[in-house]
Amino acid sequence: MRIDIVSVIPEILKSPFSNSMIQRAINKKILEIYLHDLRKYGLGKRKKVDDYPYGGGSGMVIRIEPVYRCFHKLFSERDYDEKIFMTPDGNIFSQKYAYEFSCKKNIIILCGRYKGIDQRIRDHLISKEISIGPYVLSGGELAAAVVVEAVTRLLPGVLNNPDSMITDSFQIKSINSPPLYTRPILYKGLSVPKILVSGHHKKIKNWFYEKSILKKKIDS
Ligand code: SAM
Repeated sequence: MRIDIVSVIPEILKSPFSNSMIQRAINKKILEIYLHDLRKYGLGKRKKVDDYPYGGGSGMVIRIEPVYRCFHKLFSERDYDEKIFMTPDGNIFSQKYAYEFSCKKNIIILCGRYKGIDQRIRDHLISKEISIGPYVLSGGELAAAVVVEAVTRLLPGVLNNPDSMITDSFQIKSINSPPLYTRPILYKGLSVPKILVSGHHKKIKNWFYEKSILKKKIDS
Protein backbone atom coordinates (compact mmCIF):
# COMPACT_ATOMS: atom_id res chain seq x y z
CA MET A 1 0.00 0.00 0.00
CA ARG A 2 1.18 3.51 -0.76
CA ILE A 3 0.11 6.59 1.22
CA ASP A 4 0.98 10.11 0.06
CA ILE A 5 0.49 12.90 2.57
CA VAL A 6 0.37 16.54 1.57
CA SER A 7 0.99 19.14 4.26
CA VAL A 8 2.34 22.62 4.88
CA ILE A 9 4.45 21.21 7.74
CA PRO A 10 5.28 17.60 6.77
CA GLU A 11 8.12 17.49 9.35
CA ILE A 12 5.47 16.97 12.04
CA LEU A 13 4.92 13.47 10.68
CA LYS A 14 8.51 12.23 10.61
CA SER A 15 8.55 11.18 14.25
CA PRO A 16 5.17 9.37 14.42
CA PHE A 17 6.06 7.43 11.29
CA SER A 18 9.42 6.30 12.62
CA ASN A 19 7.71 4.35 15.43
CA SER A 20 8.23 0.61 15.47
CA MET A 21 5.02 -0.63 13.84
CA ILE A 22 4.89 1.79 10.92
CA GLN A 23 8.65 1.57 10.43
CA ARG A 24 8.39 -2.23 10.44
CA ALA A 25 5.68 -2.10 7.76
CA ILE A 26 7.92 0.17 5.67
CA ASN A 27 10.97 -2.05 6.18
CA LYS A 28 8.95 -5.11 5.17
CA LYS A 29 7.86 -3.23 2.02
CA ILE A 30 4.20 -3.65 3.00
CA LEU A 31 3.77 0.12 3.20
CA GLU A 32 5.26 3.14 1.46
CA ILE A 33 4.70 6.62 2.88
CA TYR A 34 5.64 9.77 0.97
CA LEU A 35 5.44 13.19 2.59
CA HIS A 36 4.94 16.19 0.29
CA ASP A 37 5.62 19.75 1.30
CA LEU A 38 2.80 21.92 -0.08
CA ARG A 39 5.13 24.93 -0.01
CA LYS A 40 7.15 23.39 -2.83
CA TYR A 41 4.09 24.08 -4.99
CA GLY A 42 3.48 27.54 -3.53
CA LEU A 43 3.22 30.80 -5.46
CA GLY A 44 6.05 33.21 -6.22
CA LYS A 45 9.45 33.55 -4.61
CA ARG A 46 8.02 33.17 -1.12
CA LYS A 47 6.14 29.99 -2.08
CA LYS A 48 2.88 31.37 -0.73
CA VAL A 49 0.22 28.77 0.00
CA ASP A 50 -2.47 30.81 1.79
CA ASP A 51 -4.48 33.98 1.42
CA TYR A 52 -7.24 36.08 3.01
CA PRO A 53 -10.79 34.71 2.75
CA TYR A 54 -13.18 36.30 0.26
CA GLY A 55 -16.07 37.93 2.06
CA GLY A 56 -13.93 38.75 5.07
CA GLY A 57 -13.46 36.94 8.33
CA SER A 58 -10.47 35.98 10.42
CA GLY A 59 -7.78 33.47 9.55
CA MET A 60 -6.01 32.48 6.38
CA VAL A 61 -7.19 29.96 3.80
CA ILE A 62 -5.05 27.49 1.82
CA ARG A 63 -5.22 28.44 -1.86
CA ILE A 64 -6.28 26.04 -4.58
CA GLU A 65 -3.25 26.42 -6.89
CA PRO A 66 -0.57 24.76 -4.72
CA VAL A 67 -2.88 21.84 -3.92
CA TYR A 68 -3.91 21.48 -7.56
CA ARG A 69 -0.28 21.51 -8.74
CA CYS A 70 0.80 18.96 -6.16
CA PHE A 71 -2.18 16.66 -6.80
CA HIS A 72 -1.84 17.04 -10.58
CA LYS A 73 1.78 15.90 -10.43
CA LEU A 74 0.94 12.89 -8.24
CA PHE A 75 -2.20 11.99 -10.24
CA SER A 76 -0.12 11.95 -13.42
CA GLU A 77 2.14 9.30 -11.87
CA ARG A 78 -0.49 6.85 -10.52
CA ASP A 79 -4.20 6.41 -9.81
CA TYR A 80 -5.42 7.08 -6.30
CA ASP A 81 -8.26 4.96 -4.89
CA GLU A 82 -9.08 7.56 -2.26
CA LYS A 83 -8.28 11.27 -1.93
CA ILE A 84 -8.83 12.14 1.69
CA PHE A 85 -9.08 15.55 3.33
CA MET A 86 -8.64 15.69 7.11
CA THR A 87 -11.26 18.05 8.53
CA PRO A 88 -13.14 18.32 11.85
CA ASP A 89 -16.50 18.40 10.03
CA GLY A 90 -15.81 15.23 8.02
CA ASN A 91 -17.03 11.65 8.51
CA ILE A 92 -15.91 10.44 11.93
CA PHE A 93 -13.01 8.03 11.51
CA SER A 94 -13.71 4.53 12.78
CA GLN A 95 -12.42 0.97 12.44
CA LYS A 96 -14.81 0.61 9.49
CA TYR A 97 -12.90 3.33 7.62
CA ALA A 98 -9.57 1.90 8.74
CA TYR A 99 -10.58 -1.40 7.10
CA GLU A 100 -11.90 0.30 4.00
CA PHE A 101 -8.67 2.27 3.51
CA SER A 102 -6.44 -0.71 4.30
CA CYS A 103 -7.88 -2.48 1.24
CA LYS A 104 -6.80 0.35 -1.11
CA LYS A 105 -3.61 0.39 -3.13
CA ASN A 106 -2.88 4.12 -3.21
CA ILE A 107 -4.38 6.82 -1.06
CA ILE A 108 -3.54 10.48 -0.74
CA ILE A 109 -4.24 12.50 2.41
CA LEU A 110 -4.41 16.28 2.41
CA CYS A 111 -3.80 18.02 5.75
CA GLY A 112 -5.41 21.40 6.22
CA ARG A 113 -4.07 24.23 8.33
CA TYR A 114 -4.93 27.85 9.28
CA LYS A 115 -8.67 28.60 9.01
CA GLY A 116 -9.10 25.85 6.42
CA ILE A 117 -8.81 25.28 2.67
CA ASP A 118 -10.51 26.76 -0.39
CA GLN A 119 -13.86 24.98 -0.78
CA ARG A 120 -13.13 24.26 -4.46
CA ILE A 121 -10.44 21.79 -3.35
CA ARG A 122 -12.97 19.96 -1.21
CA ASP A 123 -15.57 19.98 -3.97
CA HIS A 124 -13.38 18.87 -6.88
CA LEU A 125 -10.16 17.20 -5.72
CA ILE A 126 -11.25 15.19 -2.68
CA SER A 127 -13.19 11.90 -2.55
CA LYS A 128 -13.62 11.55 1.23
CA GLU A 129 -13.57 13.95 4.19
CA ILE A 130 -12.44 12.44 7.46
CA SER A 131 -12.49 13.77 11.03
CA ILE A 132 -10.78 12.07 13.95
CA GLY A 133 -13.32 13.54 16.35
CA PRO A 134 -15.52 16.52 17.23
CA TYR A 135 -12.75 18.88 18.30
CA VAL A 136 -10.42 21.23 16.45
CA LEU A 137 -6.68 20.71 16.00
CA SER A 138 -4.38 23.33 14.46
CA GLY A 139 -3.57 21.13 11.49
CA GLY A 140 -4.45 17.83 9.84
CA GLU A 141 -1.05 16.18 10.37
CA LEU A 142 -1.72 14.48 13.71
CA ALA A 143 -5.16 13.46 12.47
CA ALA A 144 -3.53 11.92 9.38
CA ALA A 145 -1.05 10.08 11.64
CA VAL A 146 -4.00 8.55 13.53
CA VAL A 147 -5.50 7.31 10.26
CA VAL A 148 -2.16 5.93 9.02
CA GLU A 149 -1.48 4.05 12.25
CA ALA A 150 -4.98 2.50 12.40
CA VAL A 151 -4.74 1.47 8.74
CA THR A 152 -1.18 0.13 8.97
CA ARG A 153 -1.88 -2.34 11.76
CA LEU A 154 -4.57 -3.92 9.56
CA LEU A 155 -2.22 -4.56 6.64
CA PRO A 156 -1.43 -8.29 6.33
CA GLY A 157 2.03 -9.09 7.68
CA VAL A 158 2.43 -6.00 9.88
CA LEU A 159 1.44 -7.43 13.26
CA ASN A 160 3.57 -10.31 14.51
CA ASN A 161 0.45 -12.03 15.81
CA PRO A 162 -2.60 -11.38 13.59
CA ASP A 163 -4.85 -13.08 16.22
CA SER A 164 -4.21 -10.06 18.41
CA MET A 165 -5.94 -7.86 15.83
CA ILE A 166 -9.00 -10.13 15.65
CA THR A 167 -9.65 -9.70 19.39
CA ASP A 168 -9.22 -5.92 19.35
CA SER A 169 -12.16 -3.62 20.04
CA PHE A 170 -14.48 -2.76 17.12
CA GLN A 171 -13.41 -5.75 14.97
CA ILE A 172 -16.92 -7.09 15.51
CA LYS A 173 -19.76 -4.63 16.09
CA SER A 174 -20.55 -4.15 19.81
CA ILE A 175 -17.67 -6.37 20.93
CA ASN A 176 -14.80 -4.63 22.63
CA SER A 177 -11.50 -5.93 23.92
CA PRO A 178 -12.06 -7.69 27.29
CA PRO A 179 -10.27 -6.50 30.45
CA LEU A 180 -6.68 -7.75 30.45
CA TYR A 181 -4.45 -8.84 33.35
CA THR A 182 -0.86 -10.00 33.63
CA ARG A 183 1.60 -10.90 36.40
CA PRO A 184 1.71 -10.51 39.36
CA ILE A 185 -1.43 -12.35 40.37
CA LEU A 186 -1.71 -10.18 43.52
CA TYR A 187 -0.37 -6.63 43.89
CA LYS A 188 -0.97 -4.55 47.01
CA GLY A 189 -4.21 -6.43 47.66
CA LEU A 190 -5.42 -6.14 44.06
CA SER A 191 -5.98 -9.55 42.56
CA VAL A 192 -6.55 -11.03 39.13
CA PRO A 193 -10.06 -12.55 38.67
CA LYS A 194 -9.85 -16.17 39.84
CA ILE A 195 -11.46 -17.52 36.68
CA LEU A 196 -8.48 -16.41 34.55
CA VAL A 197 -6.08 -18.61 36.51
CA SER A 198 -8.50 -21.51 36.94
CA GLY A 199 -7.31 -23.44 33.90
CA HIS A 200 -10.95 -23.94 32.70
CA HIS A 201 -10.52 -22.90 29.09
CA LYS A 202 -14.21 -22.98 28.22
CA LYS A 203 -15.19 -20.91 31.28
CA ILE A 204 -12.38 -18.45 30.55
CA LYS A 205 -13.57 -18.09 26.96
CA ASN A 206 -17.13 -17.40 28.15
CA TRP A 207 -15.86 -14.88 30.73
CA PHE A 208 -13.92 -12.99 28.05
CA TYR A 209 -16.99 -12.96 25.83
CA GLU A 210 -19.31 -11.68 28.56
CA LYS A 211 -16.85 -8.96 29.61
CA SER A 212 -16.42 -7.90 26.00
CA ILE A 213 -20.07 -7.28 25.31
CA LEU A 214 -20.78 -5.78 28.72
CA LYS A 215 -18.39 -2.90 28.15
CA LYS A 216 -19.61 0.41 26.83
CA LYS A 217 -20.85 0.13 23.29
CA ILE A 218 -19.37 2.51 20.76
CA ASP A 219 -20.77 2.87 17.27
CA SER A 220 -18.31 1.28 14.89
N1 SAM B 1 -12.04 26.29 10.57
C1 SAM B 1 -12.06 24.87 10.58
C2 SAM B 1 -13.36 24.38 11.15
O1 SAM B 1 -13.86 25.01 12.08
O2 SAM B 1 -13.86 23.33 10.70
C3 SAM B 1 -10.93 24.31 11.43
C4 SAM B 1 -9.60 24.50 10.81
S1 SAM B 1 -8.33 23.75 11.76
C5 SAM B 1 -7.73 25.05 12.71
C6 SAM B 1 -7.04 23.51 10.57
C7 SAM B 1 -6.98 22.13 9.97
O3 SAM B 1 -6.74 21.16 10.98
C8 SAM B 1 -8.21 21.63 9.27
O4 SAM B 1 -8.31 22.14 7.95
C9 SAM B 1 -8.01 20.13 9.27
O5 SAM B 1 -7.18 19.71 8.21
C10 SAM B 1 -7.26 19.90 10.57
N2 SAM B 1 -8.11 19.39 11.65
C11 SAM B 1 -8.46 20.05 12.77
N3 SAM B 1 -9.23 19.31 13.57
C12 SAM B 1 -9.39 18.13 12.95
C13 SAM B 1 -10.09 16.93 13.27
N4 SAM B 1 -10.81 16.82 14.38
N5 SAM B 1 -10.02 15.89 12.39
C14 SAM B 1 -9.32 16.01 11.25
N6 SAM B 1 -8.63 17.12 10.90
C15 SAM B 1 -8.66 18.16 11.72
